[in-house]
Amino acid sequence: MKYFSLNSNAPRVSFEEAVVLGLAPDRGLYFPESITPLPNAFFNNIENLSHEEIAFEAIKQFVGDEIPENELKRIIADTLCFDFPCIPVEENIYSLELFHGPTMAFKDVGARFMSRCLGYFNRNDNKKVTVLVATSGDTGGAVASGFLGVKGVEVIILYPSGKVSEIQERQLTTLGQNIKALEVDGVFDDCQDMVKKAFLDDSLSAYNLTSANSINIARWLPQMFYIFFAYQQLKKQNKPLILSCPSGNFGNICAGIMAKRLGLPIAHFVASTNANDTVPRFLESGLYDPKPSIATISNAMDVGNPSNFIRIQELYNNDLKAFEKDFSSYSFSDAITESTIKDIYQHTGYIAEPHGAVGYLGLKKEMQKQPNSIGVFLETAHPIKFLDVVEPLLAITLPIPTQIESVLGVEKISTKIKSYDELKSFITNNINQ
Ligand SMILES: *Cc1c(COP(=O)(O)O)cnc(C)c1O
Repeated sequence: MKYFSLNSNAPRVSFEEAVVLGLAPDRGLYFPESITPLPNAFFNNIENLSHEEIAFEAIKQFVGDEIPENELKRIIADTLCFDFPCIPVEENIYSLELFHGPTMAFKDVGARFMSRCLGYFNRNDNKKVTVLVATSGDTGGAVASGFLGVKGVEVIILYPSGKVSEIQERQLTTLGQNIKALEVDGVFDDCQDMVKKAFLDDSLSAYNLTSANSINIARWLPQMFYIFFAYQQLKKQNKPLILSCPSGNFGNICAGIMAKRLGLPIAHFVASTNANDTVPRFLESGLYDPKPSIATISNAMDVGNPSNFIRIQELYNNDLKAFEKDFSSYSFSDAITESTIKDIYQHTGYIAEPHGAVGYLGLKKEMQKQPNSIGVFLETAHPIKFLDVVEPLLAITLPIPTQIESVLGVEKISTKIKSYDELKSFITNNINQ
């Protein structure tokens, strides 16, 4: 499979090149040259397939012959080492829980898949890469855990000092080995700016820097897997299926639309956002007008200019009419998100965290328009990761899951930096070319 840049000003590349580069040289996102729907027989028989078999069918055309079948199957098996249950919350409404992995956020799936692809590309020990990633919390932990011990991959995570939760900080500073954490004296945007600068810095080209956020196709595409798993679990209900994704960079929802292009019967998509409402405003006005991000309680979605939106437009050939038929987007305040977490708990006993609650809200709003459907919202993180919000609201104490307990007692190791020059000297002094 070949990939082209959505900025149309860079050469076509292979799957491997697209994964290693992350972003095209013209700063565009990579997109597959063709998308071939899966045969009807696959969907007719999906309830009899394992997660690994479904994932293999979904991804194989995008990898092509660049990873042999048996290796790709091994990578998938390694990636999907946990459950993806669809939990009934109320009549016709389900929570697709994506938080049963090692760091309790959905990003575990993409991080594990991408790291193992890079590990395979380095099988002859001649394709070393350095993953450089800025995190406001969740991404860093998933990348640290997903890439731990992968041969030929060094990982440097930049996070804003004092601005991530204790659990999140432990998840990215306690693993050691090939994972290095830099504690930046600044905010998330400062981390992000340093990472962007490093990617453009020719004097660092020998380190093969790459990114590990959802702009990378090997993090984005495997996010289709669990949308297929949701359909597999709900197919027998035989009703139109609405999928609501709490959206930040719009990677999950874009993977859902890609799954639909492969033939998965999703009737309607809802992109639910917090106060960062660039896409809901676009759907109202037709004008794409990104704004600086606003801080909210669902902070993993505090994104003012969602990077994957351009891929969604490509998936609809920039046809706004077709897009609006399939897709809605609604924005919700922190106040309504908080009262919804309480309402869900009081009425059903289900504990949602702020991102999932935003997804639930968007789903409820759409289902008023389409009442004869069943709806799924993604629960993208475990409530324990947002215990500062959830515990006081519900007046409960959440038990600490074993995945989290195992990092809490371990000593944090990080290096404090203040400037881009300090990042650069850290790379040159600590990473072998
Ligand atoms: C990253 C993240 C999101 C946003 O997902 P996108 O694919 O970027 O839209 C939502 N919830 C949680 C908990 C996250 O970590």
